[in-house]
Amino acid sequence: MKQLFAFIGILFFIQGNGFTQKLYLLKPDRVFDGTAIHEGWRVLVQGEKIIAVGEPKNVEDAAQKLQTPDKSAPQIIDLKGCTLLPGFIEGHSHLFLHPYNETTWDDQVLKEARSLRTARATLHAKQTLMAGFTTVRDLGTEGAEFDDVGLKQAINQGIIPGPRMVIATKALIATGSYAPKGFSPDIEVPQGAEEADGHDRLIQAVRRQIGKGADVVKIYADYRWGLMGDARPTFLVDEIKLIVETARSSGRPTIAHAGSAEGMRRAILGGCETLEHGDAGTPEIFSLMHEKGVALCPTLAAGDAVSQYRGWKKGVEPEPERIKNKRITFKQALDAGVTICFGGDVGVFSHGDNAREMEMMVDYGMKPLDVLRSATSINANVFHLSQLGNIKGNFLADLVAVEGRPEERISDVRKIKFVMKNGEIFHNEPNLSPKSAK
Ligand SMILES: [Zn+2]
Repeated sequence: MKQLFAFIGILFFIQGNGFTQKLYLLKPDRVFDGTAIHEGWRVLVQGEKIIAVGEPKNVEDAAQKLQTPDKSAPQIIDLKGCTLLPGFIEGHSHLFLHPYNETTWDDQVLKEARSLRTARATLHAKQTLMAGFTTVRDLGTEGAEFDDVGLKQAINQGIIPGPRMVIATKALIATGSYAPKGFSPDIEVPQGAEEADGHDRLIQAVRRQIGKGADVVKIYADYRWGLMGDARPTFLVDEIKLIVETARSSGRPTIAHAGSAEGMRRAILGGCETLEHGDAGTPEIFSLMHEKGVALCPTLAAGDAVSQYRGWKKGVEPEPERIKNKRITFKQALDAGVTICFGGDVGVFSHGDNAREMEMMVDYGMKPLDVLRSATSINANVFHLSQLGNIKGNFLADLVAVEGRPEERISDVRKIKFVMKNGEIFHNEPNLSPKSAK
Protein backbone atom coordinates (compact mmCIF):
# COMPACT_ATOMS: atom_id res chain seq x y z
CA MET A 1 0.00 0.00 0.00
CA LYS A 2 2.77 2.39 0.94
CA GLN A 3 4.45 1.64 -2.37
CA LEU A 4 1.21 2.36 -4.21
CA PHE A 5 0.92 5.79 -2.57
CA ALA A 6 4.51 6.54 -3.46
CA PHE A 7 3.73 5.56 -7.05
CA ILE A 8 0.66 7.83 -7.17
CA GLY A 9 2.77 10.61 -5.69
CA ILE A 10 5.29 10.25 -8.50
CA LEU A 11 2.47 10.32 -11.05
CA PHE A 12 1.19 13.58 -9.62
CA PHE A 13 4.70 14.92 -9.69
CA ILE A 14 5.09 14.11 -13.36
CA GLN A 15 1.62 15.30 -14.39
CA GLY A 16 1.89 18.56 -12.47
CA ASN A 17 4.68 19.31 -14.87
CA GLY A 18 4.95 22.91 -13.68
CA PHE A 19 7.39 21.32 -11.25
CA THR A 20 9.77 20.18 -13.89
CA GLN A 21 9.15 22.61 -16.73
CA LYS A 22 9.99 26.27 -16.51
CA LEU A 23 7.25 28.80 -17.12
CA TYR A 24 8.02 32.15 -18.77
CA LEU A 25 5.70 35.07 -19.45
CA LEU A 26 7.14 37.29 -22.20
CA LYS A 27 6.06 40.92 -22.32
CA PRO A 28 7.23 42.64 -25.51
CA ASP A 29 5.62 45.80 -26.92
CA ARG A 30 4.32 43.76 -29.86
CA VAL A 31 4.41 40.30 -31.38
CA PHE A 32 5.06 39.33 -35.00
CA ASP A 33 3.54 35.85 -35.08
CA GLY A 34 4.99 34.83 -38.46
CA THR A 35 2.21 36.57 -40.39
CA ALA A 36 1.19 39.88 -38.83
CA ILE A 37 2.03 42.37 -36.09
CA HIS A 38 -0.07 42.40 -32.91
CA GLU A 39 0.38 45.31 -30.51
CA GLY A 40 0.49 44.48 -26.82
CA TRP A 41 0.36 40.70 -27.12
CA ARG A 42 1.92 38.40 -24.53
CA VAL A 43 3.49 34.97 -24.94
CA LEU A 44 3.55 32.15 -22.42
CA VAL A 45 6.21 29.45 -22.68
CA GLN A 46 6.34 26.21 -20.75
CA GLY A 47 9.19 23.78 -21.20
CA GLU A 48 10.06 23.69 -24.88
CA LYS A 49 6.66 24.89 -26.14
CA ILE A 50 4.62 28.04 -26.62
CA ILE A 51 1.52 27.49 -24.49
CA ALA A 52 -0.45 30.67 -25.12
CA VAL A 53 -0.20 33.83 -27.19
CA GLY A 54 -2.58 36.79 -27.47
CA GLU A 55 -4.14 39.62 -25.48
CA PRO A 56 -2.59 40.10 -22.01
CA LYS A 57 -5.73 39.06 -20.12
CA ASN A 58 -6.08 35.73 -21.96
CA VAL A 59 -2.41 34.84 -21.64
CA GLU A 60 -2.27 35.81 -17.97
CA ASP A 61 -5.38 33.70 -17.30
CA ALA A 62 -3.66 30.76 -19.01
CA ALA A 63 -0.59 31.38 -16.86
CA GLN A 64 -2.76 31.40 -13.73
CA LYS A 65 -4.19 27.99 -14.60
CA LEU A 66 -0.73 26.55 -15.19
CA GLN A 67 0.82 27.93 -12.03
CA THR A 68 2.95 25.41 -10.29
CA PRO A 69 1.59 23.63 -7.22
CA ASP A 70 4.06 25.49 -5.04
CA LYS A 71 2.37 28.71 -6.26
CA SER A 72 5.48 30.07 -7.91
CA ALA A 73 4.46 32.47 -10.65
CA PRO A 74 5.97 32.37 -14.16
CA GLN A 75 9.23 34.18 -14.62
CA ILE A 76 8.45 37.51 -16.29
CA ILE A 77 10.63 38.46 -19.25
CA ASP A 78 10.17 42.19 -19.69
CA LEU A 79 10.89 43.15 -23.31
CA LYS A 80 9.89 46.79 -23.28
CA GLY A 81 10.53 48.59 -26.56
CA CYS A 82 10.91 45.25 -28.35
CA THR A 83 9.16 43.27 -31.06
CA LEU A 84 9.02 39.52 -30.39
CA LEU A 85 9.32 37.28 -33.44
CA PRO A 86 9.67 33.59 -34.22
CA GLY A 87 13.33 32.53 -34.23
CA PHE A 88 14.66 33.37 -37.69
CA ILE A 89 15.24 30.49 -40.12
CA GLU A 90 18.32 30.88 -42.31
CA GLY A 91 17.51 29.15 -45.59
CA HIS A 92 21.00 28.82 -47.05
CA SER A 93 24.08 28.62 -44.86
CA HIS A 94 27.47 26.93 -45.00
CA LEU A 95 28.75 26.73 -41.44
CA PHE A 96 31.91 25.07 -42.79
CA LEU A 97 32.86 28.07 -44.93
CA HIS A 98 34.19 31.46 -43.92
CA PRO A 99 34.27 34.65 -46.03
CA TYR A 100 36.12 34.34 -49.33
CA ASN A 101 37.98 37.62 -48.77
CA GLU A 102 39.66 35.90 -45.81
CA THR A 103 40.44 32.70 -47.73
CA THR A 104 39.28 31.79 -51.23
CA TRP A 105 36.85 28.89 -51.63
CA ASP A 106 39.57 26.95 -53.51
CA ASP A 107 41.99 27.32 -50.61
CA GLN A 108 39.40 26.43 -47.99
CA VAL A 109 38.68 23.18 -49.86
CA LEU A 110 42.32 22.38 -50.73
CA LYS A 111 44.42 23.70 -47.85
CA GLU A 112 42.36 23.79 -44.66
CA ALA A 113 42.30 20.74 -42.39
CA ARG A 114 38.85 19.42 -41.59
CA SER A 115 39.67 19.82 -37.90
CA LEU A 116 40.37 23.51 -38.54
CA ARG A 117 37.14 23.87 -40.47
CA THR A 118 35.18 22.16 -37.69
CA ALA A 119 36.74 24.41 -35.05
CA ARG A 120 35.59 27.42 -37.05
CA ALA A 121 32.15 25.88 -37.63
CA THR A 122 31.51 25.63 -33.87
CA LEU A 123 32.13 29.38 -33.57
CA HIS A 124 29.97 30.08 -36.63
CA ALA A 125 27.13 28.12 -35.02
CA LYS A 126 27.26 30.28 -31.90
CA GLN A 127 27.43 33.54 -33.90
CA THR A 128 24.39 32.44 -35.90
CA LEU A 129 22.27 31.62 -32.86
CA MET A 130 23.22 34.83 -31.05
CA ALA A 131 22.13 36.82 -34.12
CA GLY A 132 18.62 35.38 -33.65
CA PHE A 133 18.81 32.58 -36.24
CA THR A 134 17.55 29.58 -34.31
CA THR A 135 17.41 27.27 -37.36
CA VAL A 136 19.63 26.92 -40.40
CA ARG A 137 19.27 24.87 -43.56
CA ASP A 138 22.97 24.18 -44.06
CA LEU A 139 23.43 23.34 -47.72
CA GLY A 140 26.64 21.38 -47.95
CA THR A 141 29.96 21.09 -46.15
CA GLU A 142 31.92 22.07 -49.29
CA GLY A 143 34.56 19.38 -49.07
CA ALA A 144 34.32 18.82 -45.30
CA GLU A 145 32.71 15.40 -45.83
CA PHE A 146 30.01 14.51 -43.29
CA ASP A 147 31.27 16.85 -40.58
CA ASP A 148 27.92 18.69 -40.41
CA VAL A 149 26.45 15.52 -38.87
CA GLY A 150 28.72 15.76 -35.82
CA LEU A 151 28.22 19.52 -35.57
CA LYS A 152 24.45 19.05 -35.53
CA GLN A 153 24.79 16.36 -32.84
CA ALA A 154 27.02 18.60 -30.71
CA ILE A 155 24.36 21.33 -30.82
CA ASN A 156 21.46 18.95 -30.17
CA GLN A 157 23.29 17.40 -27.22
CA GLY A 158 23.89 20.84 -25.69
CA ILE A 159 27.68 20.57 -25.97
CA ILE A 160 27.93 23.84 -27.91
CA PRO A 161 25.34 26.60 -28.51
CA GLY A 162 24.03 26.76 -32.05
CA PRO A 163 20.94 26.73 -34.26
CA ARG A 164 18.84 23.70 -35.11
CA MET A 165 20.38 22.31 -38.28
CA VAL A 166 18.71 20.89 -41.37
CA ILE A 167 21.71 19.41 -43.18
CA ALA A 168 22.65 18.35 -46.70
CA THR A 169 26.02 16.67 -45.89
CA LYS A 170 28.23 16.48 -49.02
CA ALA A 171 25.71 17.41 -51.75
CA LEU A 172 25.73 15.84 -55.22
CA ILE A 173 27.47 16.91 -58.40
CA ALA A 174 27.93 15.50 -61.87
CA THR A 175 31.48 14.22 -62.33
CA GLY A 176 34.11 16.92 -62.60
CA SER A 177 31.76 19.87 -62.27
CA TYR A 178 32.50 21.51 -58.91
CA ALA A 179 36.21 21.66 -58.15
CA PRO A 180 38.94 24.19 -57.37
CA LYS A 181 40.04 25.70 -60.69
CA GLY A 182 43.28 26.32 -62.51
CA PHE A 183 44.93 22.91 -62.30
CA SER A 184 46.43 20.79 -65.02
CA PRO A 185 43.96 18.20 -66.32
CA ASP A 186 46.62 15.63 -65.34
CA ILE A 187 45.98 16.32 -61.65
CA GLU A 188 42.99 14.98 -59.73
CA VAL A 189 41.81 17.70 -57.36
CA PRO A 190 39.19 17.05 -54.69
CA GLN A 191 35.67 18.21 -55.55
CA GLY A 192 33.50 20.42 -53.37
CA ALA A 193 30.80 17.75 -53.22
CA GLU A 194 30.22 14.05 -54.06
CA GLU A 195 30.47 13.04 -57.72
CA ALA A 196 27.87 10.64 -59.05
CA ASP A 197 26.22 9.98 -62.39
CA GLY A 198 23.88 7.49 -63.99
CA HIS A 199 21.26 5.20 -62.53
CA ASP A 200 23.02 3.02 -59.95
CA ARG A 201 25.66 5.46 -58.76
CA LEU A 202 23.13 8.24 -58.22
CA ILE A 203 20.79 6.02 -56.22
CA GLN A 204 23.72 4.79 -54.11
CA ALA A 205 25.03 8.30 -53.47
CA VAL A 206 21.62 9.65 -52.41
CA ARG A 207 21.09 6.68 -50.09
CA ARG A 208 24.61 6.95 -48.66
CA GLN A 209 24.16 10.65 -47.86
CA ILE A 210 20.77 10.01 -46.27
CA GLY A 211 22.22 7.08 -44.34
CA LYS A 212 24.96 9.28 -42.94
CA GLY A 213 22.50 11.99 -41.87
CA ALA A 214 21.31 14.18 -44.76
CA ASP A 215 17.91 15.79 -44.05
CA VAL A 216 17.79 17.25 -47.54
CA VAL A 217 19.52 16.22 -50.77
CA LYS A 218 21.26 19.04 -52.58
CA ILE A 219 22.33 18.88 -56.22
CA TYR A 220 24.27 21.27 -58.40
CA ALA A 221 22.09 21.55 -61.50
CA ASP A 222 24.68 23.77 -63.17
CA TYR A 223 28.11 25.23 -62.56
CA ARG A 224 31.04 26.91 -64.29
CA TRP A 225 32.87 23.77 -65.33
CA GLY A 226 35.55 22.95 -67.81
CA LEU A 227 37.25 25.84 -69.52
CA MET A 228 34.12 27.88 -70.22
CA GLY A 229 33.57 30.71 -67.80
CA ASP A 230 29.78 30.61 -67.54
CA ALA A 231 27.40 28.28 -65.74
CA ARG A 232 26.32 25.30 -67.84
CA PRO A 233 23.83 22.53 -66.95
CA THR A 234 25.21 19.35 -65.39
CA PHE A 235 22.70 16.57 -64.63
CA LEU A 236 20.14 15.44 -67.21
CA VAL A 237 16.47 15.85 -66.32
CA ASP A 238 16.15 12.06 -65.99
CA GLU A 239 19.07 11.99 -63.56
CA ILE A 240 17.46 14.72 -61.45
CA LYS A 241 14.14 12.85 -61.47
CA LEU A 242 15.93 9.74 -60.23
CA ILE A 243 17.63 11.66 -57.41
CA VAL A 244 14.35 13.31 -56.40
CA GLU A 245 12.44 10.03 -56.45
CA THR A 246 15.12 8.23 -54.41
CA ALA A 247 15.22 11.01 -51.81
CA ARG A 248 11.45 11.40 -51.71
CA SER A 249 10.89 7.70 -51.06
CA SER A 250 12.67 8.24 -47.73
CA GLY A 251 10.72 11.43 -46.99
CA ARG A 252 13.54 13.84 -47.91
CA PRO A 253 13.24 16.79 -50.28
CA THR A 254 15.73 17.57 -53.03
CA ILE A 255 16.86 21.12 -53.71
CA ALA A 256 19.11 22.54 -56.40
CA HIS A 257 21.86 25.04 -56.88
CA ALA A 258 20.82 26.57 -60.19
CA GLY A 259 21.98 29.82 -61.72
CA SER A 260 21.36 29.41 -65.45
CA ALA A 261 17.93 29.34 -67.06
CA GLU A 262 18.49 25.80 -68.42
CA GLY A 263 19.82 24.50 -65.08
CA MET A 264 16.76 25.99 -63.39
CA ARG A 265 14.40 24.49 -65.95
CA ARG A 266 15.87 21.00 -65.49
CA ALA A 267 15.75 21.28 -61.69
CA ILE A 268 12.09 22.39 -61.80
CA LEU A 269 11.07 19.60 -64.22
CA GLY A 270 13.09 17.09 -62.20
CA GLY A 271 11.06 17.85 -59.05
CA CYS A 272 13.39 19.96 -56.88
CA GLU A 273 11.54 21.92 -54.19
CA THR A 274 13.71 25.02 -53.96
CA LEU A 275 16.16 26.63 -56.37
CA GLU A 276 19.19 28.40 -54.92
CA HIS A 277 20.47 31.61 -56.55
CA GLY A 278 18.46 31.71 -59.81
CA ASP A 279 20.47 34.64 -61.12
CA ALA A 280 19.79 34.10 -64.83
CA GLY A 281 16.12 33.18 -64.46
CA THR A 282 13.68 34.52 -67.05
CA PRO A 283 9.97 35.45 -66.81
CA GLU A 284 9.15 32.06 -68.41
CA ILE A 285 11.28 30.15 -65.89
CA PHE A 286 9.80 32.05 -62.95
CA SER A 287 6.26 31.42 -64.14
CA LEU A 288 7.14 27.71 -64.43
CA MET A 289 8.41 27.84 -60.82
CA HIS A 290 5.18 29.48 -59.72
CA GLU A 291 3.11 26.91 -61.59
CA LYS A 292 5.01 23.95 -60.08
CA GLY A 293 5.18 25.44 -56.57
CA VAL A 294 8.98 25.65 -56.54
CA ALA A 295 10.41 28.29 -54.19
CA LEU A 296 13.36 30.59 -54.91
CA CYS A 297 16.13 31.20 -52.41
CA PRO A 298 17.71 34.26 -54.03
CA THR A 299 21.00 34.58 -52.06
CA LEU A 300 21.27 38.29 -52.90
CA ALA A 301 23.92 38.93 -50.26
CA ALA A 302 26.33 36.32 -51.67
CA GLY A 303 26.43 37.87 -55.14
CA ASP A 304 26.82 41.30 -53.59
CA ALA A 305 29.68 40.10 -51.37
CA VAL A 306 31.51 38.32 -54.20
CA SER A 307 31.27 41.42 -56.41
CA GLN A 308 32.85 43.45 -53.61
CA TYR A 309 35.60 40.84 -53.13
CA ARG A 310 36.38 41.25 -56.84
CA GLY A 311 36.96 44.95 -56.34
CA TRP A 312 33.60 46.69 -56.66
CA LYS A 313 33.42 49.65 -54.26
CA LYS A 314 29.79 49.52 -53.21
CA GLY A 315 28.21 52.92 -52.70
CA VAL A 316 31.08 54.63 -54.54
CA GLU A 317 31.13 52.96 -57.95
CA PRO A 318 28.09 52.11 -60.11
CA GLU A 319 26.66 48.61 -59.72
CA PRO A 320 28.36 45.96 -61.88
CA GLU A 321 26.35 44.13 -64.58
CA ARG A 322 25.92 41.08 -62.36
CA ILE A 323 24.19 43.12 -59.64
CA LYS A 324 22.05 45.07 -62.11
CA ASN A 325 20.90 41.79 -63.67
CA LYS A 326 20.16 40.28 -60.28
CA ARG A 327 17.89 43.19 -59.43
CA ILE A 328 16.01 42.61 -62.69
CA THR A 329 15.61 38.85 -62.32
CA PHE A 330 14.65 39.11 -58.64
CA LYS A 331 11.91 41.56 -59.63
CA GLN A 332 10.76 39.13 -62.34
CA ALA A 333 10.50 36.37 -59.72
CA LEU A 334 8.41 38.62 -57.45
CA ASP A 335 6.17 39.63 -60.37
CA ALA A 336 5.62 35.98 -61.28
CA GLY A 337 4.42 35.29 -57.73
CA VAL A 338 7.23 32.84 -56.93
CA THR A 339 7.47 31.91 -53.24
CA ILE A 340 10.59 33.64 -51.91
CA CYS A 341 12.64 31.92 -49.22
CA PHE A 342 15.05 33.81 -47.06
CA GLY A 343 18.61 32.52 -47.46
CA GLY A 344 21.79 34.46 -48.07
CA ASP A 345 24.44 31.78 -48.73
CA VAL A 346 26.04 32.95 -45.49
CA GLY A 347 29.58 31.66 -45.18
CA VAL A 348 30.45 33.51 -48.37
CA PHE A 349 30.09 36.47 -45.96
CA SER A 350 30.34 36.45 -42.17
CA HIS A 351 28.28 34.14 -40.00
CA GLY A 352 26.14 36.20 -37.63
CA ASP A 353 25.70 38.80 -40.38
CA ASN A 354 22.74 36.83 -41.78
CA ALA A 355 20.53 39.95 -41.56
CA ARG A 356 22.42 41.33 -44.54
CA GLU A 357 20.20 39.24 -46.83
CA MET A 358 17.04 40.67 -45.20
CA GLU A 359 18.27 44.21 -45.79
CA MET A 360 19.06 43.41 -49.41
CA MET A 361 15.66 41.81 -50.03
CA VAL A 362 14.13 45.14 -49.00
CA ASP A 363 16.65 47.06 -51.09
CA TYR A 364 15.75 44.87 -54.11
CA GLY A 365 12.01 45.48 -53.80
CA MET A 366 10.33 43.47 -51.02
CA LYS A 367 8.33 44.99 -48.16
CA PRO A 368 9.95 44.52 -44.73
CA LEU A 369 6.90 42.60 -43.48
CA ASP A 370 7.17 40.16 -46.42
CA VAL A 371 10.86 39.66 -45.66
CA LEU A 372 10.01 38.82 -42.03
CA ARG A 373 7.42 36.31 -43.30
CA SER A 374 10.03 34.73 -45.60
CA ALA A 375 12.50 34.33 -42.73
CA THR A 376 9.92 32.72 -40.44
CA SER A 377 6.62 31.14 -41.51
CA ILE A 378 7.42 30.82 -45.22
CA ASN A 379 10.79 29.15 -44.67
CA ALA A 380 9.21 26.83 -42.08
CA ASN A 381 6.50 25.87 -44.55
CA VAL A 382 8.83 25.37 -47.51
CA PHE A 383 11.36 23.38 -45.43
CA HIS A 384 8.68 21.15 -43.83
CA LEU A 385 9.40 22.46 -40.30
CA SER A 386 5.85 22.08 -39.04
CA GLN A 387 6.39 23.36 -35.48
CA LEU A 388 8.59 26.34 -36.26
CA GLY A 389 8.44 29.78 -37.84
CA ASN A 390 5.26 30.90 -36.08
CA ILE A 391 4.30 32.08 -32.61
CA LYS A 392 1.32 29.83 -32.03
CA GLY A 393 0.10 27.58 -29.25
CA ASN A 394 1.87 24.20 -29.18
CA PHE A 395 4.67 25.38 -31.49
CA LEU A 396 8.27 25.07 -30.33
CA ALA A 397 9.50 28.04 -28.29
CA ASP A 398 12.07 29.48 -30.71
CA LEU A 399 11.72 33.22 -30.08
CA VAL A 400 13.75 36.36 -30.64
CA ALA A 401 13.16 39.91 -29.48
CA VAL A 402 14.62 42.92 -31.24
CA GLU A 403 14.50 46.53 -30.19
CA GLY A 404 12.36 48.64 -32.51
CA ARG A 405 9.97 47.90 -35.36
CA PRO A 406 11.57 45.64 -38.00
CA GLU A 407 8.31 45.62 -40.00
CA GLU A 408 9.05 49.29 -40.72
CA ARG A 409 12.83 49.35 -40.63
CA ILE A 410 14.30 45.96 -41.47
CA SER A 411 17.73 46.71 -39.99
CA ASP A 412 16.09 46.62 -36.54
CA VAL A 413 16.42 42.81 -36.78
CA ARG A 414 20.06 43.39 -35.85
CA LYS A 415 19.11 44.86 -32.46
CA ILE A 416 18.86 41.49 -30.76
CA LYS A 417 17.84 41.63 -27.11
CA PHE A 418 16.60 38.11 -26.43
CA VAL A 419 17.11 34.68 -27.96
CA MET A 420 15.28 31.51 -26.93
CA LYS A 421 15.61 28.14 -28.65
CA ASN A 422 13.48 25.20 -27.66
CA GLY A 423 12.41 27.05 -24.49
CA GLU A 424 16.00 27.63 -23.42
CA ILE A 425 17.27 31.20 -23.05
CA PHE A 426 20.59 31.89 -24.79
CA HIS A 427 20.57 35.67 -24.61
CA ASN A 428 18.49 37.93 -22.39
CA GLU A 429 19.79 41.46 -22.43
CA PRO A 430 17.08 43.47 -20.67
CA ASN A 431 16.68 40.87 -17.92
CA LEU A 432 20.27 39.77 -17.40
CA SER A 433 20.39 37.53 -14.39
CA PRO A 434 23.05 35.07 -13.31
CA LYS A 435 20.86 32.17 -14.41
CA SER A 436 20.24 33.36 -17.93
CA ALA A 437 23.49 35.21 -18.62
CA LYS A 438 25.42 32.86 -20.82
ZN1 LIG B 1 25.66 27.85 -51.10
